[in-house]
Amino acid sequence: MPTSPKGKPLLLLDVDGPLNPFAAKRFRRPRLREYATHRVLPDGWVASRAARGIRATPLRVRLNPQHGAALLGLPFDLVWATAWTHDANAMISPRVGLPELPVIEWPAAMEAAQDGIHWKTRHLVAWAAGRPFAWVDDGIQDSDRAWVGENHIGAALLHHVDPRIGLTEQDFTILRDWAAAAE
Ligand SMILES: [Mg+2]
Repeated sequence: MPTSPKGKPLLLLDVDGPLNPFAAKRFRRPRLREYATHRVLPDGWVASRAARGIRATPLRVRLNPQHGAALLGLPFDLVWATAWTHDANAMISPRVGLPELPVIEWPAAMEAAQDGIHWKTRHLVAWAAGRPFAWVDDGIQDSDRAWVGENHIGAALLHHVDPRIGLTEQDFTILRDWAAAAE
């Protein structure tokens, strides 16, 4: 478990939605001016397709190369909390300007529905082990906020990001303000 000498909160970061606004509509593309389109073939994707007897084709991701610097400028310890797991370090970090980050690994049956809460919720709360965290994800619902409120000792911000838009300046402001208030 990584620890921080400064005691900064964790920022548990999803890829698809916050960094890769996969649901952006064609007519909204002007918002994506600052993004670059990449086609990548993550090991995890190849393995999951192979398990179903399907040959994986490359995934298209749109990434903003300025997001890394913006995230590193926040008073958090960044952690990947994404189905990309270690592929995020290999394929996302270099394209947004992030260093290698700690990775939350998920149980094998990770994407099964879990009583109306997100499949990541229980596991990332266990991983945080009481440390304050902000979780940034397009899949967060009120049921997750309620579950975390009852099962996590430290402060927590569950911040939903619209997968049609991705992270914006407003999101960075919310995260910065929350960290300042949580000190
Ligand atoms: Mg997502």
